Amino acid sequence: MALLVYKFGGTSVGSTERIKAVADKVKKAHDLGDQIVVVLSAMSGETNRLIALAKDMQDLPTEREMDVLISTGEQVTVALLTMALHALGCEACSYTGAQVKILTDSSFTKARIREIEDSNLRAELCAGKVVVVAGFQGVDELGNITTLGRGGSDTTAVAIAAALKADECHIYTDVDGVYTTDPRVEPKARRLDHITFEEMLEMASLGSKVLQIRSVEFAGKYNVALRVLSSFKEGCGTLITYEDTQMESALISGIAFNRDEAKLTITGVPDLPGVAFKILGPIAEANIEVDMIIQNIAEDATTDFTFTVHRNDYQRALGLLEQTCADLGARKVAGDDTIVKVSIVGVGMRSHAGIASTMFKTLAEEGINIRMIATSEIKISVVVDEKYLELAVRALHAAFELDKISA
Ligand code: ADP
Ligand code: ASP
Ligand code: MG
Repeated sequence: MALLVYKFGGTSVGSTERIKAVADKVKKAHDLGDQIVVVLSAMSGETNRLIALAKDMQDLPTEREMDVLISTGEQVTVALLTMALHALGCEACSYTGAQVKILTDSSFTKARIREIEDSNLRAELCAGKVVVVAGFQGVDELGNITTLGRGGSDTTAVAIAAALKADECHIYTDVDGVYTTDPRVEPKARRLDHITFEEMLEMASLGSKVLQIRSVEFAGKYNVALRVLSSFKEGCGTLITYEDTQMESALISGIAFNRDEAKLTITGVPDLPGVAFKILGPIAEANIEVDMIIQNIAEDATTDFTFTVHRNDYQRALGLLEQTCADLGARKVAGDDTIVKVSIVGVGMRSHAGIASTMFKTLAEEGINIRMIATSEIKISVVVDEKYLELAVRALHAAFELDKISA
């Protein structure tokens, strides 16, 4: 008898018919004798709908109230699935995050899981029931409802799998695995049979929304056997694995991209110790996350400083930087919120030279101007104008022969 955690995303529970189909699938697995915990997202589009309702009330609703609101989507689906299971004669019980007691910190809208009380879940499983848990939500020490950030149901599922020491965690979604890149952008993308935790972590952090990054972190830390599969068609999906040194790894495993970027530049800054801190200090204080950072020294003892932030934070960051510009007597501030980041990822990069030059040559041949570059051991990221996103992804996909990877 295995203990399995199944997570179904928004599209998979997007209508009552689909919820019934999920119930059939869960019942079949349960009938085979396995213990099943199901984690659900809200119906597709529901979280966005709730966010829009909030914006209609107030420009900047408090994050506490946002969490009270946006956690409701998942409460609907867990109740409906449990009813569908009952209708099939399958014993089941629904739980909100607070009822399980998924204890988080109090960072509303982006809370982190601290601890999961597993006693309720275990008791239900021992009684032979399917347990249906609302994803994306938790509760803080004071009893406030919290949410885990967009895509957070993945993290709920993996965290529960870790807490229960489940045999496997299956993430059922609308694609049949992790692909070499988002198949919506490059139809020639190929499904990967397996991908290492390290690569998946990079892909997720660089914008591949197929798994929330924290879910991959959890899986790596607690050694959860994690698989991404389709809700709609049979198949073995993609297994997230530890690096297998026996395996002949491809140079590049995937291409990730992030459309949510914006860049800001301050020029003519006096080149003195502490300048980077003076520029980024106020940004950090305003709780704005900075991604890429580049500093160039000019010959006249001044420097130009460029960094990227999430597009949602662009206007606030611009205001703060203009203030810093005046304080430092710098020349000017410029910004652009029509840029994107495209990254190639692969553990094979470690042992091969020339990957960066192939990337830059490919983009040059397409006439795509690179605005920023950042590298780490297993990734190279470039910032380009957003109009080139699709072209850049497809050109790189072809250049690194990702369409020829055998699954
Ligand atoms: P769910 O609602 O099931 O959580 P998501 O929309 O969060 O589903 O994630 C699945 C989507 O992720 C796919 O439809 C696909 O467009 C996108 N995606 C982005 N990058 C990749 C990738 N490398 N492989 C597979 N899917 C990807
Ligand atoms: N419903 C939440 C969202 O849309 C969480 C999730 O689906 O994972 O982000
Ligand atoms: Mg998701």
